Amino acid sequence: MKCPSCKSKIDEKQAREKADSEKRVRCPECQVWLKEDPKASQLLNIGFFTWLAGTAGKGMIDGTPDVMMLLNIPVLVGLVMMAIWFVRGKWITA
Ligand SMILES: [Zn+2]
Repeated sequence: MKCPSCKSKIDEKQAREKADSEKRVRCPECQVWLKEDPKASQLLNIGFFTWLAGTAGKGMIDGTPDVMMLLNIPVLVGLVMMAIWFVRGKWITA
């Protein structure tokens, strides 16, 4: 995980061991408290289900090339959302 405050890399397991609760961890570099961003997990969930719907649709529907092209949209949108989640990270300052 990456600290959103000082951008240093933190060992998530190590940080969790020092935490006072399951919800918060402390950055060993800048001592700031961090928590998981609820919006980030929402983004991941929506992205995953969008991707899943597109992928399942492509597997089940035997449509024309136009329909198949259309089904690439949710697949791509879902992948982009998951990529944003991955790049941005899920931790915010508490
Ligand atoms: Zn930090």
